[in-house]
Amino acid sequence: MVDAELSLEEVCKGTTRRYRLDKEVICTHCGGKRAEPKSKWQSCPSCGGKGFEERVSSSFFARFVRRQTCTACQGRGEIPQQKCRVCRGEGKVRREVDVTVEIPPGMENGQQVRVRGKGNAGSEGGTAGDLFVTVHVKKGQWLRKGRQLFYDLKIPFTTAVLGGKAQVPTLEGREEVTIRPGTAGGERIVLPGRGLPPAGGGARGDLILRVQIDVPTHLSRRQRQILEQLRREGRGAI
Ligand SMILES: [Zn+2]
Ligand SMILES: [Zn+2]
Repeated sequence: MVDAELSLEEVCKGTTRRYRLDKEVICTHCGGKRAEPKSKWQSCPSCGGKGFEERVSSSFFARFVRRQTCTACQGRGEIPQQKCRVCRGEGKVRREVDVTVEIPPGMENGQQVRVRGKGNAGSEGGTAGDLFVTVHVKKGQWLRKGRQLFYDLKIPFTTAVLGGKAQVPTLEGREEVTIRPGTAGGERIVLPGRGLPPAGGGARGDLILRVQIDVPTHLSRRQRQILEQLRREGRGAI
C-alpha cells in the first residue's frame, strides 16, 4: 500500500508515479519451492506429515481443539532435506524493486489504483498480490465537485458596471475572460470543457466562475468626489 499526492492538473491528464518498494519476491534459485533444486523431501517431523498441529486447551466446562497449520512445513506435511541456501528455506527473498504506476485521469480523493501482481509474492511460488496506490488530491485554487471546478472570481465594481476583462486560473494556465457590462455579484460564467474528466477518462466538465464584486474600502479624495457626483446625477438610483 503506497500513496500518491496529485495536483488537480495531474488529475486532469493522468500521471505516473515511481515507487521503490522493499518487496518479497519469489526466490529464483528454488522457484519458491524452499528446497535446494536437487534435494529430496522427507516427512515433516514437527507434525508427523499431517501438515497441521492440534492445540488443546481446556477450561472447567469444555475442551477445545484448535487446528493450526504446521509452521515447520507450512502445511505441506513434508520438508526438504536440504533447504534452499539462497532464501534459507523461506521460498521468498526481499528485494528493492522499482515499480511505475499509471494513474488514470479523473481520480477522486481517497480512491485507489490497483496494480495487479505488483504486491508481495505469494507462498510456494504462487502469484504475487496486488499493489494498491491511494490517491490524495491536493487542494488547488479551485473547488472540485466531481467533474466541475468552481472558482470565485473577484472583479472591481467598475468592471461589473462597465464590463471588461478578467484573468482566471485554469488547469491550462491563466486565461482572459470577458465580463459583460452590468454583471451582478453571484452570477456564473461557465467555461465549458475546462473542468475535469470523469474517472477513467472522457469528456471534461466545466470550470464555473462565481462572480464576486470587490467593493473598495479605501478611496482617494478625488475618487470619492467622482462617486459622490455620480450619486447626485443618478438621483439615488446609482
Ligand atoms: Zn509439518
Ligand atoms: Zn530459495
